Amino acid sequence: MRAEILSIGTELLLGDIVNTNAQYLSRRLAELGVYVYFQTVVGDNPERILEAYANAYGRADLVVISGGLGPTEDDLTKEMAASYFGLTLVDHPEIWEPIRLYYEKRGAKPIESARKQAAFPEGAVILPNSAGTAPGCWIEAQGCYMAMMPGPPREMIPMFEEQVIPRLKPHLSQTFQSRLLRVCGAGESNVEEMLKDLITGQANPTIATYAKEGEVHVRITARAETEETAEKLLSPVAEACREALGELVYGQGDASLEETIFLILRQRNLTMAVAESLTGGLLTGRLVNVPGMSACLLEGLIPYTNQAKIRQLGIEPDKLEAFGPVSSEIAEEMARRVAQISGADIGLAVTGWAGPSQDPSEPVGLIWMGLHLGGETLTQRISFGGDRNRIRFFAANMALCWLLR
Ligand code: ATP
Ligand code: MG
Repeated sequence: MRAEILSIGTELLLGDIVNTNAQYLSRRLAELGVYVYFQTVVGDNPERILEAYANAYGRADLVVISGGLGPTEDDLTKEMAASYFGLTLVDHPEIWEPIRLYYEKRGAKPIESARKQAAFPEGAVILPNSAGTAPGCWIEAQGCYMAMMPGPPREMIPMFEEQVIPRLKPHLSQTFQSRLLRVCGAGESNVEEMLKDLITGQANPTIATYAKEGEVHVRITARAETEETAEKLLSPVAEACREALGELVYGQGDASLEETIFLILRQRNLTMAVAESLTGGLLTGRLVNVPGMSACLLEGLIPYTNQAKIRQLGIEPDKLEAFGPVSSEIAEEMARRVAQISGADIGLAVTGWAGPSQDPSEPVGLIWMGLHLGGETLTQRISFGGDRNRIRFFAANMALCWLLR
């Protein structure tokens, strides 16, 4: 199967955004054994989009498109596909209703042009969008396939994985199995280094690492004639990767860091509480992202100043004075006391310097974490570079990772 990736959007041509969709799609299609012969970028212009369709359809069996599915006038992907294949655009009330409700819930009146998102070329298969409003679509014509997906990567990637790949499967000469290892606490280059011996000379399964916000994903994909053979190729390599990465692997598959924590707390019937200083609620916010978390998370405190640490947690002023607010001793106190105050099984605490600072004695990026569990309190020191937001994000992220270890 020969494929062409077609990215639609004038911002791409102007260099305003980087074409990460094409990179993602190229990598995934290669893993699936689909040959990508061309990557094309075209602006939001009707004639040039038609020209790009004609070129792509003339030389590929599969055209994978991203961008231009939104409600605005420059979003032309479906309109031009209808025009290219000589199809009419059909309104789908069942698609429009949830979009209308989406606007209504937010107290906004949907703009008339938003209706475009619910119109598709006749005969097209509609691809649901699990991360946004505009669905995509799939057209089979003249022995070729065309997949149209939204531009934002957070919508495009799940649609490709959940909707497009299953439609490609019957047309692939080989079948495949893949496994995703989720890694936290090391950067992508470190992870690659740890897997170097496995990655080198490894063609099937392939091992690919992806940097994600605060974590790294390792996808191992095996191709074979049958699923059983693919699984047989996959298992030992996936296991070897897991071993090589040791306790850096916090989970497998779809569950995020905070979802994994939730599942484990539920399984073991444990409750927790958080006391966070420099992260100012980020840590609790991450946990609260998970529906149902109220069964496990009892409380999140933000004792930001020394005064607040004294008042909210009852930490002795002398102790704060003696060790300073960013110290193993204070992280330990914070974790232990928040668990006691809330009656939770686990207390998790972070304190640190987020910066920027003129004071050279303030080591910006230094973090102390405390974890109280089973009557014992552990502490750990870490440090990060970067600006205030990066330091705060990584402090919250590392505390969540640490909880899983
Ligand atoms: P929307 O409903 O958001 O308008 P859309 O399907 O119409 O979605 P576009 O308007 O083309 O998509 O792009 C929306 C945003 O998606 C862009 O501003 C950009 O941030 C991102 N985006 C689009 N194409 C790409 C791409 N090829 N690679 C990375 N990001 C992209
Ligand atoms: Mg748009």
